[in-house]
Amino acid sequence: LILLFSLACNSPKKILVSKEYDSIDKKVDSVMKLMTLEEKIGQLNQYNGFWDVTGPVPKEGQAAKKYEDLKKGLVGSMLNVKGVKDVYALQKIAVEQTRLGIPLIFGFDVIHGYKTISPIPLAEAASWDLEAIQKSAEIAAEESGAVGINWTFAPMVDISRDARWGRSMEGAGEDPFLGSKIAIARIKGFQGDLSSNKNILACAKHFAGYGFAEAGRDYNTVIVSDEILHNVVLPPFKASVDAGVRTFMNSFNELNGIPATGNKYLQRNLLKGDWKFDGLIVSDWGSINEMIPHGFAKDSKQAAEIAINAGSDMDMESYAYVEHLSTLVREGKVSESTINDAARRIIKVKFELGLFDNPYKYCDEAHEKATVGKPEFHEGVLDVAKKSIVLLKNDSNLLPLKKSGQKIALIGALANDKTSPLGSWRIGADDNTAISVLEGMQKYPNNQLMYAKGADVAVGRAQFMWETKINTTDKSGFAEAIEIAKKADVVVMVLGEHGLQSGEGRSRTDIGLPGVQKELLEVVYKVNKNIVLVLNNGRPLAIPWAAENIPAIVEAWHLGTQSGNAIAQVLYGDYNPSGKLPMTFPRDIGQVPIYYNYKNTGRPTMNEPESVFWSHYIDEKNTPLFAFGHGLSYSKFEYSNLMLSSNSLSKNGTIQVSVVLKNNSNVAGKEVVQLYIRDLIGSLTRPVKELKGFELVELKPFETKTIIFTIDEKLIEFYTANNRWEAEAGDFKVFIGGSSDKTLEANFQYIK
Ligand code: BGC
Repeated sequence: LILLFSLACNSPKKILVSKEYDSIDKKVDSVMKLMTLEEKIGQLNQYNGFWDVTGPVPKEGQAAKKYEDLKKGLVGSMLNVKGVKDVYALQKIAVEQTRLGIPLIFGFDVIHGYKTISPIPLAEAASWDLEAIQKSAEIAAEESGAVGINWTFAPMVDISRDARWGRSMEGAGEDPFLGSKIAIARIKGFQGDLSSNKNILACAKHFAGYGFAEAGRDYNTVIVSDEILHNVVLPPFKASVDAGVRTFMNSFNELNGIPATGNKYLQRNLLKGDWKFDGLIVSDWGSINEMIPHGFAKDSKQAAEIAINAGSDMDMESYAYVEHLSTLVREGKVSESTINDAARRIIKVKFELGLFDNPYKYCDEAHEKATVGKPEFHEGVLDVAKKSIVLLKNDSNLLPLKKSGQKIALIGALANDKTSPLGSWRIGADDNTAISVLEGMQKYPNNQLMYAKGADVAVGRAQFMWETKINTTDKSGFAEAIEIAKKADVVVMVLGEHGLQSGEGRSRTDIGLPGVQKELLEVVYKVNKNIVLVLNNGRPLAIPWAAENIPAIVEAWHLGTQSGNAIAQVLYGDYNPSGKLPMTFPRDIGQVPIYYNYKNTGRPTMNEPESVFWSHYIDEKNTPLFAFGHGLSYSKFEYSNLMLSSNSLSKNGTIQVSVVLKNNSNVAGKEVVQLYIRDLIGSLTRPVKELKGFELVELKPFETKTIIFTIDEKLIEFYTANNRWEAEAGDFKVFIGGSSDKTLEANFQYIK
């Protein structure tokens, strides 16, 4: 017998798959052969956690139904179950009480850490440090793996050009090249070696177009051209497949009239067809049934039919598959081979995780205890937090702060907040577990530190995202803030969004400082102009007054558990900032969507002298407040001597472009050197510049280095009018610099 299958009624039932099978596919086949149609459909069903294992077994309602389904082998995966005890209890039911004993996979939104929280993904993207980003995902995988989770619904690889969209915080920003590199780093970090319990399945989401919601309102209609879809939206998803991501999540939004969850072109033709993705696709939460209000399916049964036929393998919390798929198969509306394909993909990742060998691989209480919150994790998230900080402005070198003899006024509710820095996705972490800026700055005892709240940011803490109370108008704390500011040499103001003011379902129409914080900033400025503004936020903010008047601005996002330590170390110069913006900061909400890789119009461009013939606003400039790629350092970096090894690139050839970078200061530092290319004439119009390379370069005081990038045909390909990726012959410009708006340039030709 190649496969031994125990059917003895009173012994734990489990499938023993012979070691003789030399491939996972053969093992999967052997299991598939044993399964009934119902059991296969069961694998396609994912339920939200429903049972507190310390309480009684559920007897009624939805929880009881889920419990019964679990015992019948009608559940393939669960989400939002945490802790070894709970995971173990549910896994035990799947393994011991169902006919075949197929283990469950346990999904969870480990977006930027489980309990030890890393910076929000947008912040990490600002580090442009792929190693640090990978490390952060490794920490998240190890810690969540230790509490029984083996599948994270991350990374979100949606490109976002609209700061109103609260979920910008969860992605890598606006650029497909940077976004692809970061997607790869995160996937490597999460998945690493799946045979180890330190790694877990990753999930590229949301496929596709979710970041292009109209007017930045979450879940809203998405209309994108084929050209933008292929050149901007899809590259990070393709990169994820190439990096070996094992799961995908589809999306709530409709894309050009077809809900993503029911989109056959995206899922079957492109992802599983052209891209040869052989992992599983899970729906987003209830997104199968959401096709009903979308006006795409008349009921849950039709929604199930559309979704499975379009290629959605697993149903997250719509109950549509478990309730309707077997009828749909009997009626001939869904073929058995479609069910087989979906079930195979799910069984396959369970083998890849090693769960058939040991279903309790992630269920070791001693390991859980030894792992969660390990000191190394704290060191790791501190490191990436420091790297995520972007120095936006530093006039008259107000920063770094002197370490002694200074009176420092620290102002702002966020300066003394130990919850907000954790951001909006941190389901495993408790409130009040982040280091606040106040605590971080107290570690520098040779200055006199005074603190005043000034004004609140958000009232209370919302349990659910739609309850977030945005503003408060109370100015009673202003007087105290003004008083300490008057006495201070330097004022540090920590202002911005509370961690719950960005994230899923948290779109904003006003992307300034919420509440009365701007007023607070202005009244403090009247009494002391030496202000360092530290921003906490999950999206680009429009803060033109501050950018104009405040001498030093530090973008500190929501940096996670070690937030306050990271910020204090940067303010005091113990860490020299090197972050660069992954998303454009507008001057005004009215400019949104605004992004660096825009296209020219038929009118004179922004860089040419102003004219009434411009494509322009009559009340605001076209340029951003802070450009994509912008970020300063305590070092002074100077670029010179951009050179090309040849002015002509031939098919299958390469050319080198080099630049000399000098650190013209006595402070060692790191600089993200950025390479951009412009294709001057295309079969489809091309962006004014596109990021095509970057390198994080470390320079000692007064050191000079030559940085070289290689340009080949691959780098200049795009999705052309021929509906395929190819390079078109013609003239190109190449740019190198420390920001998308400050570059040196040269020309080359591509000859086919
Ligand atoms: C989000 C997903 C998330 C899922 C499960 C949805 O609302 O859009 O990104 O993974 O919930 O929590």
